Amino acid sequence: MTAVHTAIYWFRSDLRLRDNPTFIKACKEAEFLLPVYIHSNHLEEEAAWGFPRVGGQRKAFLQESLEDLRTQLRAMGSDLVELSGDILEVFEELRTKLDANQIYCEQIKAPEELEQVAILSHAGFELKSIWQSSMLDPQDLPFKAEDMPDVFTQFRQQVEKHKIRFAKPVDAPVSIPPLPSSHRVQDQATTFDASSSKKSFLGGETSALAHINQYFERRLPDTYKQTRNGLVGMDYSSKFSLWLAGGCCSARLIAKQLAEYELLYGANDGTYWLWFELLWRDYFRFLHFKFGNKLYRSRGLGAAPSNQFNEAKFQQWASGNTGESLIDAGMRELSTTGYLSNRMRQVVASYWIYNMKGDWRAGAAWFESQLIDYDVYSNQGNWLYIAGKGTDPRGGRPFNVAKQTQDHDPDAIYRNMWLK
Ligand SMILES: Cc1cc2nc3c(=O)[nH]c(=O)nc-3n(C[C@H](O)[C@H](O)[C@H](O)COP(=O)(O)OP(=O)(O)OC[C@H]3O[C@@H](n4cnc5c(N)ncnc54)[C@H](O)[C@@H]3O)c2cc1C
Repeated sequence: MTAVHTAIYWFRSDLRLRDNPTFIKACKEAEFLLPVYIHSNHLEEEAAWGFPRVGGQRKAFLQESLEDLRTQLRAMGSDLVELSGDILEVFEELRTKLDANQIYCEQIKAPEELEQVAILSHAGFELKSIWQSSMLDPQDLPFKAEDMPDVFTQFRQQVEKHKIRFAKPVDAPVSIPPLPSSHRVQDQATTFDASSSKKSFLGGETSALAHINQYFERRLPDTYKQTRNGLVGMDYSSKFSLWLAGGCCSARLIAKQLAEYELLYGANDGTYWLWFELLWRDYFRFLHFKFGNKLYRSRGLGAAPSNQFNEAKFQQWASGNTGESLIDAGMRELSTTGYLSNRMRQVVASYWIYNMKGDWRAGAAWFESQLIDYDVYSNQGNWLYIAGKGTDPRGGRPFNVAKQTQDHDPDAIYRNMWLK
């Protein structure tokens, strides 16, 4: 291993120090290290659908997550520099200022993120990246991720047959290389005013760990299977996704804590189901290894293109004014809090696709804009699944709204919360 002089650590969706193998590698190999986060200007542009790609709730949570990361890095003698602009231009400028050509970053297998890396490589940067966002290590799978079974049940059965539970997380670094002292790089990011939006959850690794700990301490995994389709409150589901999405915690860390919990209190339906859901998260990640850009086509993996986009109908759906009370409650919860239960995500997505005959990609883009826990793999995968353009053997999931209302909100408690 040859030590490099100065390197840059590019934080992407891995805003944490614990279980961050790429950051550990950078810390071991670099003599001087500049940790940066870049607010890419392509995300500031309006989405093709006419609304911002990143809404206020997500921005606020991201800003809190960056603040927490900066505090942790400073406590170890380092720092976090926030920059904004075109990714290539930002790195070109850093290269000139720091005489640094090496960039360490986590691997993200989604089209835009892959393209960013390809552009940087093409411009002569040396990128070192490790895949680290799944619970399982793709190397441990009994098949190459590129050859994985299409159907989730077959994927899960193979994983279970080989007794693969999770990959072991790594510790936080014990020390971080000093900042490149001769070249100070000033923060250029315009700080988002987090106070302007109503926040329900606090971003950052510190809050993530506190949240995960209290979830286990209160023994909520035991009841997870019974409560997971709930609509009201913090405890019916884990809410881990909020912190997993930006990488404030890793799925492996949660899975390890879950395994320790099982050793202490015994495995049960609830603990198994929590692992099972985290496996869904991996499944949607690994599908990207296999299908890549195909998952982003209008027809997805199917033959039929998506429905036509209708702006007026979209506004009704997105603003919670369809006249269908369960749907309107869900869409208002989403825009008010930046979160929606899994059950309601399924129901509103189905309503948009099958009842309103909407373009599934516009629905997915609205979720991208609104969800604090927006995750490119899970969002794309779930929307495709419901639209019947992914790998669902049933070919799509239309939900009957009347039945869902009767099953999940018979006393209108949820609807009254959001429709007043
Ligand atoms: C249309 C649609 C869009 C979605 N978009 C996203 C998204 O952008 N980001 C995101 O994290 N999840 C997404 N999901 C999946 C799921 O709804 C959320 O992960 C879950 O509701 C988050 O709440 P929780 O952490 O309390 O979940 P829990 O029920 O406590 O589950 C534990 C963890 O398992 C994983 N998980 C659970 N269900 C799923 C699932 N269906 N797919 C993938 N992972 C799952 C999540 O990481 C979650 O944190 C979407 C689902 C649908 C139907």
